[in-house]
Amino acid sequence: MNKTQLTNTPPQTCPECGSSDMVQGTRTQTVEYGGLVSAPYEQPGLWCQACGEGLLSFKEMEVGSREMHKLKAQVERLLAPSEVRRVRKKLGLTQKEAGLLLGGGRNAFQKYESAEVLTSQAISNLLRVLEQHPSALEVLRPRP
Ligand SMILES: [Zn+2]
Repeated sequence: MNKTQLTNTPPQTCPECGSSDMVQGTRTQTVEYGGLVSAPYEQPGLWCQACGEGLLSFKEMEVGSREMHKLKAQVERLLAPSEVRRVRKKLGLTQKEAGLLLGGGRNAFQKYESAEVLTSQAISNLLRVLEQHPSALEVLRPRP
């Protein structure tokens, strides 16, 4: 069932307790991964006033998913989205150039930097090496 359609057709009843007292808004939430807890973030959704259950659209679920990716990056020792952006800029690459040159394709860095997708360990490590040795980028540039 498509949750986007569900939340677009109020009034809703709570799937958990059957209450029809559902309100669109945000809730302060955290995510947990590998024994760590994220910083609190505002999760939009349609919230049951009776039991606290939330109905999230696909777009709304992405908010929590990005927070989970940031936390996972920390636990798995991957570069955080902000670090990916910082190193890419230091190398003087656009998002598209970085994806084509380092791997992942033209949209990869847009996804890494928005926390939509986590980098692989390999991309994180490559960026760490390039940050220390930016001239090594020449190795990867296509030759005429
Ligand atoms: Zn409920």
